[in-house]
Amino acid sequence: PEDDLLARRDAAFAPVQEHYYENPPRIERGWRHHMVSAEGRSYLDMVNNVTPLGHAHPRVEQAISRQLRRLNTNSRFHYAAVVQFTERLAALLPAPLDTVFLVNSGSEAVDLAIRLAIGATGQHDVVALREAYHGWTYASDAVSTSLQDNPNALATRPSWVHTVDSPNSYRGRWRGEQADNYALEAVQVIDELAASGRPAGAFLSESYYGNAGGVALPEGYLPQVYAAVRRHGGLAIADEIQVGYGRLGTWFWGFEQQQAVPDIVCVAKAMGNGHPLGAVITTRAVADRYRDQGYFFSSTGGSPVSSVAGLTVLDTLRDEDLQGNAVRTGAHLKAKLQALAEHHPIIGAVHGSGLYLGLELVRDRHTLEPATEETAELCERMLHLGVIVQPTGDHLNILKIKPPLCIDPAGADFFADTLDRALT
Ligand code: PMP
Repeated sequence: PEDDLLARRDAAFAPVQEHYYENPPRIERGWRHHMVSAEGRSYLDMVNNVTPLGHAHPRVEQAISRQLRRLNTNSRFHYAAVVQFTERLAALLPAPLDTVFLVNSGSEAVDLAIRLAIGATGQHDVVALREAYHGWTYASDAVSTSLQDNPNALATRPSWVHTVDSPNSYRGRWRGEQADNYALEAVQVIDELAASGRPAGAFLSESYYGNAGGVALPEGYLPQVYAAVRRHGGLAIADEIQVGYGRLGTWFWGFEQQQAVPDIVCVAKAMGNGHPLGAVITTRAVADRYRDQGYFFSSTGGSPVSSVAGLTVLDTLRDEDLQGNAVRTGAHLKAKLQALAEHHPIIGAVHGSGLYLGLELVRDRHTLEPATEETAELCERMLHLGVIVQPTGDHLNILKIKPPLCIDPAGADFFADTLDRALT
């Protein structure tokens, strides 16, 4: 029967696939930044970064349907949409990043990026940040040491993965002027690896720390660390899957905020507005070197339907000025959340930029003791009050705020007012 659906889900799904809530609503449809349950209840969706244009956007729906009626196929064939999309995507990146691989998801993109770096350099070690999440495939999982996703990650990672301290200027070891130490430590790890005869093939990180709740990396971090890995023949990989594609508002890509240019960029999530689509963009030189070392083909990566979805998302992001909305509505929302912090001591910090914000909850603003249980309870209350928002970070004490980029000031106000009520 219908009302057993949750039990049936739990019986059919592997237990590792959690759904956050004690009693999650059964979502049936969505529009803009709202999701509607089977009972007809509308929820404000504050977590969906796979639908930047908003749910069920008619332009994407029509473009995909039209293409499905004509052709969808294994992506090995020659058709116009994939060429147009690839050119548009490459044009969004600074030189010399001009060569594209199309895949279906973020994990695939990170996996391929690691494979490219190892293949192109012949160097098999990878340096990544502690607390990071990069995906579930073998290589992307190996470089993910977020305790939230896998409490044993640091102990069980393979020997080719090396980690450096999470450059979290709010909760980490070093703050303020001392935040330079994060880059110095990373450079030291990279230099020592090279001195031991195992120079890293890649340094891989998010360019804006999404998994730590949207914390900006310390100023100058990426340029210093990228220079170190390149000095020893390795490549810099930027994971833009969560924060890139206009979500940060001021910057289309997170690495722009750091004034750094990586050698390999991973993108996914937002690209298809929910339709599976991911990409790796690199330089012609890296792609050429990889050609002699490895193989790549994805049956559905860049299929006609995926390519049309990708093109339509880019057109709509531009036509509806959604990056501009991320700047304006993001600043409006951030200011409201900062004002709430004055009345609610549990709010330790409001991180982030544009429409990638993180509200960090602490029991004490001096010790920064994470308010983990309170955050879980807050999410349940928010659901009850009609808002979908979920926790992130190693302590699950940060509300990750990343709604569809079409959210309007009224939606932002509803979120802030509901948060105020729930905290009160
Ligand atoms: N990298 C980052 C930073 C992510 O947030 C995610 C997804 N949460 C991934 C990679 C993996 O992407 P996907 O779930 O599409 O495989």
